[in-house]
Amino acid sequence: MSFPELGLVAALSEAVAAKGYQSPTPIQAQAIPPILAGRDLMGGSQTGTGKTAAFTLPMLQRLASGRSRPRSPRGLVLAPTRELAAQVGESVATYGKGLHLSSAVIFGGVGMNPQIDRLRRGVDILVATPGRLLDHAGQGTLDLSQVEILVLDEADRMLDMGFIHDIRRVLKLLPARRQNLLFSATYSPEIKELADGILRDPALVEVARRNTAAETVDQVVHPVAKAEKRALLSKLIRDGGWSQVLVFTRTKHGANRLAEQLGKDGIPSAAIHGNKSQNARTKALDDFKTNRIRVLVATDVASRGIDIRLLPHVVNYELPNVPEDYVHRIGRTGRAGEEGCACSLVSADERGLLKDIEKLLKRSIPVEKIPGFEMCEIDGREDARNTSRGGGGQGRGQRQGGGRSGNRGTGTSHGGSARRRGPRRPQMASR
Ligand code: AMP
Repeated sequence: MSFPELGLVAALSEAVAAKGYQSPTPIQAQAIPPILAGRDLMGGSQTGTGKTAAFTLPMLQRLASGRSRPRSPRGLVLAPTRELAAQVGESVATYGKGLHLSSAVIFGGVGMNPQIDRLRRGVDILVATPGRLLDHAGQGTLDLSQVEILVLDEADRMLDMGFIHDIRRVLKLLPARRQNLLFSATYSPEIKELADGILRDPALVEVARRNTAAETVDQVVHPVAKAEKRALLSKLIRDGGWSQVLVFTRTKHGANRLAEQLGKDGIPSAAIHGNKSQNARTKALDDFKTNRIRVLVATDVASRGIDIRLLPHVVNYELPNVPEDYVHRIGRTGRAGEEGCACSLVSADERGLLKDIEKLLKRSIPVEKIPGFEMCEIDGREDARNTSRGGGGQGRGQRQGGGRSGNRGTGTSHGGSARRRGPRRPQMASR
């Protein structure tokens, strides 16, 4: 199947060819035809599957065939974070280069006035975070009455972040007749309710099984004492010659401190989280993409939507409190079919979190102790390299860049505990 075979016009097929895409990803192959046909769509798809192009390409095509040079947007994409909005905006601009449509991105944390000027000049496609969008609509600098296509990107994340009321307020500002596309990595009852309220006879497209970690991602747990984590991380980065590592911490403060400490270890690093200005975040991301820094330390919220192709290494410096976040985190690597590796530095106090994650994944993650850092036992599990019970059933490939060549199989199954999880993302405010 090729892009033109999906029904895309030459200008768009050429734009994706220029990006180096040879063929559509599964979500693109399934979603593009029904969207082009004008249908609503529910897309179950994690980031990294090519879902941005899956909705951007047909949206551009449909809007390009309509009237041109409007004053108010006809395509509206809502995204949970500024980073994701910026990246979707970039995709719209890149893919739409040959189509004479205009687009803009608006999000909070930066001045309103340049955005007001931009909106005044007229926009065909607007990509926005919900709060700032409502600010503009509320003060009359944005008219949403001409929207023909609405996209809710990473809708599950928007709900997690408490945007449901904002979304409902936005919906009230839109014309009743429009095409709706909703993308979500998970199907919770809340997502189903939102979808039921918005979508009319939607095409259902799902490419990643629910809550399944990307299969191309090579996962490993390194047990380590809490106080030794930073030293172990530096060692892994150095010994493995890792040049581009995304590291997750649980708190903003932790992210800052770790980036500083790594810097002192001679490993150029930057932190990216919600307290940083937009300029600082953009600079950190640029420095990371262009290899001026080796390590980007991020919190879960800030990392959402970070799109870096071929990101080879993701490190969970601390396990997330919410198991689904683990899946989102490791989805940053092994993108679009590339191999990636995700390692988790797990201290004894994180056993319960690890069990919850393994329960969600329905598999145990292989354990590998690193010489010199063997002080911590997780659940009495042995190093997968030393145990004949391991089984090695995951068929995982050689990890990239690692100096250690252990034959890690799956660790022994230890059956997840029935520890109840609290409400989703209870610690959101502190991140
Ligand atoms: P997304 O899931 O939209 O975040 O996209 C994940 C990554 O895959 C991005 O870096 C895209 O540039 C890339 N990508 C999207 N479509 C394709 C394709 N058909 N072939 C190769 N890479 C792609």
